[in-house]
Amino acid sequence: MIKVCKFGGTSMADGINMKRVADIIAADKARRFVVVSAPGKRFGGDTKITDLLYRTHTDVKETGHCGEAFQKVCERFCGIVSELGLSLDMQTILDDARREIEEEKSEDFTASRGEYLSARVMAALLGFEFVDARAVVKFGENGNLDGELTFRLTAEALKGKRCAVVSGFYGEDRKGKVKTFSRGGSDVSGAIVARAVGADCYENWTDVSGFLACDPRIVENPENIRMLSYKELRELSYMGANVLHSESIFPVREADIPIRIKNTFRPEDEGTDIVPTAKYRFGGRVVTGIAGKKDFTVIFVEKSMMNSEIGFAHKVLGVLERHGISFEHMPSGIDTMSFVIDSALLKNGVLEIITKEIEQAVNPDVVRVFDDISLIAVVGHGMSRSVGTSARLFDAIARAGVNVRMIDQGSSELNIIVGVDNENYERAIRAVYEEFFTKKTADFGYQA
Ligand code: ADP
Ligand code: ASP
Ligand code: MG
Repeated sequence: MIKVCKFGGTSMADGINMKRVADIIAADKARRFVVVSAPGKRFGGDTKITDLLYRTHTDVKETGHCGEAFQKVCERFCGIVSELGLSLDMQTILDDARREIEEEKSEDFTASRGEYLSARVMAALLGFEFVDARAVVKFGENGNLDGELTFRLTAEALKGKRCAVVSGFYGEDRKGKVKTFSRGGSDVSGAIVARAVGADCYENWTDVSGFLACDPRIVENPENIRMLSYKELRELSYMGANVLHSESIFPVREADIPIRIKNTFRPEDEGTDIVPTAKYRFGGRVVTGIAGKKDFTVIFVEKSMMNSEIGFAHKVLGVLERHGISFEHMPSGIDTMSFVIDSALLKNGVLEIITKEIEQAVNPDVVRVFDDISLIAVVGHGMSRSVGTSARLFDAIARAGVNVRMIDQGSSELNIIVGVDNENYERAIRAVYEEFFTKKTADFGYQA
């Protein structure tokens, strides 16, 4: 039995927590391969090591040298090493990191040092070998992970090792330069290692007792989801449930490796099992979870007889493609089509150019833009089994006094996505949670 364990930022925040992590690993011999994040926040208002490193990069860009932010990084790591009483020569390791950061002048390299240093410390604490992700995680020409090469190199590096600590969050590109995943990417690194060693389980240790039915920063004490399918995970994490990076699913999915979310601070809690859809057991809830994200723009296009105009969608999509803009959703009617786009992609006049080009390309009756839209995804295999889910959803949102600006229901009936104004986001989420989780009628709906 092999378990790969990834520990997130809070689990690595200080010496006491790292000691907890060591105890968790010692409690199960199957926990042989460990992937770590950089130390995160120790308390509200604290700064994550990764954020200090992004600031360090700005300092290096502006002055050529690491500044105060890197000094803080050094103090945190020296503090951890002395708290743990390790004989690791941290000062030399930090001096090397400083020199390389100033030489490389690369944002990704600088940010990656958090995970590198954290893995060095953890390896020393556990007495495990350290494996630098740079040697095994490889990105291809297009900037995406080169899965085949990565899995092979990782498997080779770990073969014959009883135990090892691998640094999370980064790898190396074709030119031999360090490249990071997007934020929260150590989850992906953990999934890569799990896949490469053919783990029986990928344990993802964090600061909550599992995947919760809703963001705990919006709804107090939401219900824990005991079991989640890969598909539900993908929908929820993509739509903002950032307890697990939305790309973590890909390496483990092909090998049917289950993911278990566990709480470092309450290891006795059951957590959440994320399993292949074929092994998923329906737990009785109509809705499995709710997630959401703010700050989208909807471009709405209307034209009579749009449906019969061949190539209409192609022309509009061509405009987006020319500007390298991806869209999240495309709800459409007979004579209408909407594009939901991350507002960050439309800054600095891009939105104005795009709407103009759409007008020129298809000569629509109306092009309208809605700004400051939040998307809320209601996800669950149970929705296809019960009648009236949409009615309950919209009723709940309406009762909360919130106007629905957009609706998109995938044909799989696994999710319904609604758009509301940013200012109504939290209110709408609470209303939906109450409808499907806390009301007496919350359970089961009724079976179709
Ligand atoms: P780590 O540093 O361990 O990777 P993250 O901060 O990335 O941890 O993810 C855990 C956090 O995700 C939780 O503390 C919680 O605030 C937040 N979160 C958002 N949505 C959810 C959800 N649906 N279930 C659990 N946690 C969630
Ligand atoms: N340390 C990185 C971040 O803060 C990666 C991670 O924690 O997964 O985003
Ligand atoms: Mg995370």
